[in-house]
Amino acid sequence: MSEKRVYTFGNGKAEGRADMRNLLGGKGANLAEMNLIGVPVPPGFTITTDVCTEYFEKGHDAVVALLKDDVEKAVAHIESLMNSKFGDAENPLLVSVRSGARASMPGMMDTILNLGLNDEVAAGMVEKTGNAHFVYDSYRRFVQMYGDVVLEMKPENKEDIDPFEEIIEKVKAERGVKLDKDLNVEELKKLVTLFKEAIKTRTGKAFPDDPIEQLWGAICAVFRSWMNERAILYRKMEGIPDEWGTAVSVMAMVFGNMGDTSATGVCFSRDAATGENLFNGEYLVNAQGEDVVAGIRTPQQITKIGSQRWAERAGISEEDRVANYPSMEEAMPEIYKQLNEIQDKLEHHYHDMQDMEFTVQEGKLWFLQTRNGKRTGTAMVKIAMDLLHEGMIDEKTAIMRCEPQKLDELLHPVFDKVALAQAKVLTQGLPASPGAACGQIVFHADDAESWHDDGHQVVMVRIETSPEDLAGMSAAEGILTARGGMTSHAAVVARGMGKCCVSGAGGINVDYKSKTVEIDGKVFHEGDYISLNGSTGQVYEGKIQTKAAELSGDFKELMDLCDKYTKLQVRTNADTPHDAQVARAFGAKGIGLTRTEHMFFDDKKIVAMREMILATNAEGREKALAKLLPYQKADFKGILEAMDGLSVNIRLLDPPLHEFVPHDLAGQETMAKEMGVDLKTIQQRVASLAENNPMLGHRGCRLGITFPEITAMQTRAILSAACELKKEGKDPKPEIMVPLIGTVAEFKQQKEIIEATAKEVFAEYGVELEFEIGTMIEIPRAALTADTIASEAQYFSFGTNDLTQMTFGYSRDDIASFLPVYLDKKILKVDPFQVLDQEGVGQLVKMAVEKGHKVRPNLRTGICGEHGGEPSSVKFCAKIGMDYASCSPFRVPIARLAAAQGALEE
Ligand code: ADP
Ligand code: MG
Ligand code: MG
Repeated sequence: MSEKRVYTFGNGKAEGRADMRNLLGGKGANLAEMNLIGVPVPPGFTITTDVCTEYFEKGHDAVVALLKDDVEKAVAHIESLMNSKFGDAENPLLVSVRSGARASMPGMMDTILNLGLNDEVAAGMVEKTGNAHFVYDSYRRFVQMYGDVVLEMKPENKEDIDPFEEIIEKVKAERGVKLDKDLNVEELKKLVTLFKEAIKTRTGKAFPDDPIEQLWGAICAVFRSWMNERAILYRKMEGIPDEWGTAVSVMAMVFGNMGDTSATGVCFSRDAATGENLFNGEYLVNAQGEDVVAGIRTPQQITKIGSQRWAERAGISEEDRVANYPSMEEAMPEIYKQLNEIQDKLEHHYHDMQDMEFTVQEGKLWFLQTRNGKRTGTAMVKIAMDLLHEGMIDEKTAIMRCEPQKLDELLHPVFDKVALAQAKVLTQGLPASPGAACGQIVFHADDAESWHDDGHQVVMVRIETSPEDLAGMSAAEGILTARGGMTSHAAVVARGMGKCCVSGAGGINVDYKSKTVEIDGKVFHEGDYISLNGSTGQVYEGKIQTKAAELSGDFKELMDLCDKYTKLQVRTNADTPHDAQVARAFGAKGIGLTRTEHMFFDDKKIVAMREMILATNAEGREKALAKLLPYQKADFKGILEAMDGLSVNIRLLDPPLHEFVPHDLAGQETMAKEMGVDLKTIQQRVASLAENNPMLGHRGCRLGITFPEITAMQTRAILSAACELKKEGKDPKPEIMVPLIGTVAEFKQQKEIIEATAKEVFAEYGVELEFEIGTMIEIPRAALTADTIASEAQYFSFGTNDLTQMTFGYSRDDIASFLPVYLDKKILKVDPFQVLDQEGVGQLVKMAVEKGHKVRPNLRTGICGEHGGEPSSVKFCAKIGMDYASCSPFRVPIARLAAAQGALEE
C-alpha cells in the first residue's frame, strides 16, 4: 500500500509519471506524463488504485475521511491554476471525475462531467460567459450523468429505454425538434428540473446541490463502477484481475460545447484496423465528451484524406463533402496543425500507436487522454514492423509488442467486413476455432463428404462430434455443434485443422431425423445457407462473403526475427501430408506428434481395423493387420515425404479400441459378413470391449503389450515407408513413440518389439536407417520415474492433456459440468486443459526434464499436448529448457512468437 493517496498534475508539472500506471491507472499516469512533456492538459489530480481497494474494504465514510485533507488541497491546486473556485457562483470551477484502470478498459467504467453545477452556479456561469445555452446544456448533462452513475436511476427492466432519454424525447416531441442540440435554453432548464424530480421520485434520493457532496458522491461511484457487471465481464474476457482496482482522476473541465469554435474528438496516430501509418480520427463541433462515440450525431473526419475515403464509401460527392462534411484539416486548419504535431510527439514519446481524446474550447486545444491504442492482429504486426523500420523500437521490443494469440486472425479466412455488417446474427456459441465459414447445412459426416465432392461448400451441424465425423469435418467449411466446450472433440480437431468451429451453441435444436435445425425460432433444412464466425462464436443466417488469409511480408519478417532469438523450436501435430505441408509453410521444424488412429477413419481402413479389434485370437488379428499394413505404410510415406529432412514423431496406437468398433446395426452387419461370423458374435464382442473408465483402461502401450502384433505392424509400416523413401534418395527421419508409459518395464517390452521388427525391415530392404525410440510422459508415475525411463528412451514427449487429466483427476471430457463453477468461484483461474498448470502439472514436467537429463544428457524433450500452442505454456516450456513445442499447424506462428518471447523474458 502506498502512503500517498493523491497525485496532482497541471501546468507542465506532475507528481506522477507514465510508469506509475499500476498506482495511477493508465489514464492518470498518462495525464501526468503529458504534463511533463509539455502537452496541454487541464490541471487535476489522481486518487490511487490502492484507495479503490480501501473503498471496498472500509466503505464510503472511511474513505472520505482518509482522503479529505489531500483532496481539499488538490482541489485548491486546480483552483489556483484555473483562476476560479469550485462551488463559487461568480467564477466557478467545474471538474470531471474519471475512472482509469491499470489496463485500458474502454467505456467499461463510469465518468462524470461538468461536476460542480447547481442552480446558483449555473446562473453565475451564464453571467460570466453570456452563453446560457452552453451552461444549461452542461447542467442537464451533469444531472443526467450524476443521476445515472451516482444515484443509480436506471431503467427498471433491461428492455426499457433509459429514463432520462425518455424525458428528453418527451420534451423534444412537445416542440417537434429532432436533435438534442436544437433544444432551447428554456427546454434545457426544464430538463434539469424534470430530471431532478424524476430522480427524487424514482430513487428516493435528492440530487445534492452542494458541489463538495457531489464530488465525494462521484469519486465513490467511480470506485463502485469497478464492480459493475460489464466491467466484471470485460475483465473476465481479458484476464484482468479483480484485485487491481481503478484510479480516479479529477480534472478541470474544458468545454467543447461553447459554440462553433469549440469541438471534441478522438484520434489515432495510425490506423488501428490495418496498421497503416496514417493519422486519423473523428470530431464534432460544439459537442462534449461522449457525443463522438455515442453516435447521436455523425462525426466528421479529422484528416482530409480520411474524410475523402469516408465520403467515397458513403457515396458522397466531393462537392457535398467539402460543403457539409469538411475535415478538421479543412475546417479548423490552425487547430489541426497543433493536433497533428502533438499526436506525432506522443507517438514518438511512447514509441507506439496512440489513441487520444481532445477537446477544443473556443479555439484552444486540450488533450484529455492518450493510451497505446487497441488494434487488430494485422495492425499489430504491421505497426511493430513499421516502428522497427522507422527506428523507433528495436528488434526485441518489436517481438515483445506482438501478442501471440492475436496472430490467429492472420491465419484464417475472414468475413468481408462490409458483408458482415449487413448480416443477421441468429445465435451465439463458443468461439471454438477461429475463422470464417459459410456453406450449406448438412447433418452427417458422409453427407458432408458427398456434398463436398459434388462441389458444394458445407457447414456441418451436429449435436456433438465424434472421431468418426473427422472426414466430414475435414470436408466442411465449418462446424457448428449444440454441445461441447472449448476442449470438446469438435473444438480440438477443428483447431488442429485450422477449421472454423462454433461449439456449445445451446440455442440450436438439431433433429437428425428430419434433417433440420431450429435456431432462434426459425427452422433450417439441409441445404440452407448459414455462416459461422469461429472467432466470436456468432452464427449468421445465409451466405457471407469470405476472404482468404494472406501472409504479408511483415508477418514473415516478424517470424524470421523470432527465430533469431528463440531456443525452443516449434514442431507441429499433423496426421496428414496436407497438414504437414501447411505447418511447414508456417515454419514448423518437424512433426512432434502424428496420431496414427486418425488414419483409420476411412471406409476401407476402418473395416480392416474393426476386423483386427473384433478378432478373438492372434491369428485373426494378424490377418487383419496384414490388410492394414499397406494403408499405414502409404500414410506414413506421405507424411515423411512432406517433412523430408525433418524429424517426424509417430505415436503408436493409443485410444481405447472401443472407439473404433461399430455401434450401429448396419456397421455390425457389415463386419459379420466381412469376417464370416454371425451378428450376435460381433455384438457380444463389441459389448465386451465396453469399459467403465476407458481413459484409464485398455489403451496406450497396454494395447501394444497385450497385442504385440499391433506394435510390430505399425513399426513395420513406419520403417518400410522410410526405407522406400531412402532408396528414392530422400531423407526421412522417423521417430517411434510409445504412448502412456507408467513404468520403464512397459517401455522396454515395446522397445524390444520395435527393435526386432526394425532389424527385419532393414534386412528386407537392405537399408540402414537412423531412427529413434522415445516415449510419451503423460502418466504422473512416468514423470516421477523419468530418470529410469530415460535410461531406455531416447526422447520424451510430454502429453500434457493426459498428464493434466491424471494429475488433477479431472476427466477432460466431463469437465464441462463443473468447470464453469470452478472458474466462477475462482477455485481455478483458467481451464487447465487450455493453459498448462505451471504450479502443479508444470512441476512434474520440469522435474521429469531434469531427471531425464541427469541420466541422458542429450535427451530430447518436447511437449505435444494442446498446450503446445498456448502462449503462456510455450513460454514455460522455453524457460525450463525444453527442445521443442508441438502444436496444430495453424498455431505454429503463435508458438514461434511465444517461444521467442519466452527466450527474451529470460
Ligand atoms: P472513458 O474511459 O470511458 O473513455 P473518460 O474518462 O475518458 O471515459 O471520459 C469520457 C469522455 O469525457 C471522454 O470523451 C473525455 O474526453 C471527456 N472528458 C473527460 N474529462 C473531461 C474534461 N475535464 N473536460 C472535457 N471533457 C472531458
Ligand atoms: Mg476515454
Ligand atoms: Mg495421451
